[in-house]
Amino acid sequence: MRLLVLPGDGIGPEITAATVTVLEAVSRRFELGLVLDHDVVGHASLKVHGATVRPELLDMARASDGVVLGPTATFDFKDEAKGEINPSMFFRKNLDLFANIRPSRTYPGLPTRFNPFDLVVVRENTEGFYADRNMAQGNGEILVTDDVSIALRRITRQCCARIARAGFELAARRGKHVTLVHKANVLKITDGMFLEECRKVAAEFPDVKVDDLIVDAMMAHAIRAPERFDVIVTTNMFGDILSDLTAEMSGSLGLGGSINAGTDHAMAQASHGSAPDIAGRDIANPFSLILSCALLLDWHGRRKGLPVFEAAANAIDTAVEQALATGEVTPDVGGKLGTRTTGEALAARLLAA
Ligand code: ATP
Repeated sequence: MRLLVLPGDGIGPEITAATVTVLEAVSRRFELGLVLDHDVVGHASLKVHGATVRPELLDMARASDGVVLGPTATFDFKDEAKGEINPSMFFRKNLDLFANIRPSRTYPGLPTRFNPFDLVVVRENTEGFYADRNMAQGNGEILVTDDVSIALRRITRQCCARIARAGFELAARRGKHVTLVHKANVLKITDGMFLEECRKVAAEFPDVKVDDLIVDAMMAHAIRAPERFDVIVTTNMFGDILSDLTAEMSGSLGLGGSINAGTDHAMAQASHGSAPDIAGRDIANPFSLILSCALLLDWHGRRKGLPVFEAAANAIDTAVEQALATGEVTPDVGGKLGTRTTGEALAARLLAA
């Protein structure tokens, strides 16, 4: 399996280095033959290449079996004419990575204020309120006058149907329950279309229970009884917000793993951003990106019919669970280890198992 590794900004290089340590260990233990190609995006790329992401990276990503993308300083990148492109959007849009799969769960060794839960947010990734990807040309955010601005939210039947199918297929392998999250009481046409398409797909999965919640009510239900959810299917921005909440509820945003998957390509990417407030201090939790890579290995294994990759993904999940139970973790989840030593300890655990 060939992976393109792009460390990104802020805590990106630190958590990516720890992730590489773990990937090398899991490759050795399961004889996966992982080949890692290293390159740059974000500020490091802007400095050297004059752009935060280069077109040739797209060819490299297409030739790879997956991309590992560290968080990037999206907020800094404002002007595409100056090479300031959002690398995350660049890959999601150009590789058509329409499904952002974001699991969140509690861990036995890590107390939280919530009932134990295990859920997955399945977020549409290519349209919605995301102005940088919802237009064929131009941008979905418009400054009409200095005092008037407009943002367009695009919802299409095709994108709703394919994200719904990704969610129902996942639920069929898990708890057989899908919750559709929307705001169709106000966004009657767009979220009405989302619900309509999701329900058409639901009819193909008679064994999967389906219900729906308005997004504001969802926030209350997520806090009150997260254990009632299995797979949550929702549109782009609602999914982005909800999945940060559920990642933090699991103990830390630093546990938020995620994969961006399309039909032919996939990209591992932590749910959180570049966390500049803790960058360079060796305290960032690398589990978000490590768990994202476990999702990528699992995706590859299923797609290629190679169960050893699924076994490797399970081994990473188990090793993370054990590390959290024994406290071999970073301070955000109650440990005393640094980012680097957390990666090393996890790699040692994988090799010893
Ligand atoms: P960006 O502008 O790139 O989105 P941000 O700081 O606004 O960065 P996040 O990176 O999502 O947003 O982080 C929010 C907060 O969560 C950070 O201030 C940090 O304290 C915490 N955090 C995020 N990721 C981690 C991590 N991997 N380990 C520990 N804490 C984290």
